[in-house]
Amino acid sequence: MSKYQIKKSEAEWKAQLSEEEYKVLREKGTERAFMGEYNMHFDDGTYTCMACKNPLFNSSSKFDSGCGWPSFDESIEGSVEYIKDTSHGMIRTEILCTNCGSHLGHIFNDGPTQTGQRYCVNSVSINFDKK
Ligand SMILES: [Zn+2]
Repeated sequence: MSKYQIKKSEAEWKAQLSEEEYKVLREKGTERAFMGEYNMHFDDGTYTCMACKNPLFNSSSKFDSGCGWPSFDESIEGSVEYIKDTSHGMIRTEILCTNCGSHLGHIFNDGPTQTGQRYCVNSVSINFDKK
């Protein structure tokens, strides 16, 4: 059924997630810019996958990109999968949780920090564990 550690049917995901979470995480939707809970959130802690609690990003890698979505300049090693995405007439790199295959957002190589990376993540795809 799937190569991911967490194997759930879409019906199981639908039952577990809110309508908006399901739309983004499982149907690769995008939340509205500047509306997300974690866009301007800078507490110390760890951001985890909303679907499976896999730790994805440390708060130390978060920065304000001005793009309207939570942005990170690196992910926790091994937590994010990268897939070429040619939808909407663009060539982008989609980012997924390696543990459950849920959609997180996209990554761009125009980051302003040392890594040059900008992980652009939907707030509804992540949860925050305060340190
Ligand atoms: Zn996950």
